Amino acid sequence: MTSEQIKIKADEVLTKYVPRGGAYKKFDSIMSGENIKFKSVATKDSFLGIFTHANNGQAYIMVNDTITNDGRRNFTIAHELGHYFLCHELKNGQCFDADILEDGTAVDAIEREANYFASCLLMPESKVRSAFLSMLQRSRKAKVKDFLNVRNDVTWGIWCGIGSELKKRYGVSDAALRYRLSRLGLAMFSF
Ligand SMILES: [Zn+2]
Repeated sequence: MTSEQIKIKADEVLTKYVPRGGAYKKFDSIMSGENIKFKSVATKDSFLGIFTHANNGQAYIMVNDTITNDGRRNFTIAHELGHYFLCHELKNGQCFDADILEDGTAVDAIEREANYFASCLLMPESKVRSAFLSMLQRSRKAKVKDFLNVRNDVTWGIWCGIGSELKKRYGVSDAALRYRLSRLGLAMFSF
């Protein structure tokens, strides 16, 4: 699938289930609307999540309940929803640490698609762009307009303020947010 097709699919889900606010707050509505059951499972290995069907056909998303970073957990659930909404043909469906990478570097094409879907679902382009730009404009002192090049200077302070607000709003990790902003051409990170 192309990135554009994946974005369109994520936008459809947002239109249907997320009238406002962060998509991570609507995981329950999305799953009940699509008749997917959710389970947290206790496991110690690098397994993070799975989208699968039981023998009776019931769809399940299961997530490792030892994930302590909320952003990572949200990204994992959004990633599994990606496998469902993108109608991926999965072998056994288990996704591990190396599959669910928030910075777009997963090796497997199917996993990269699910990661991009998660990124689009959690941080919709139009919302992130306008939120980021309005926050940036409030920090005029830095003489930055519509692009933030984060370096070891005053821009670092600006980034800390904007970054923590956006992470909270969208329920994402630092890595996921940085990658999204870079990919949208809004910010660059020198370190
Ligand atoms: Zn996966």
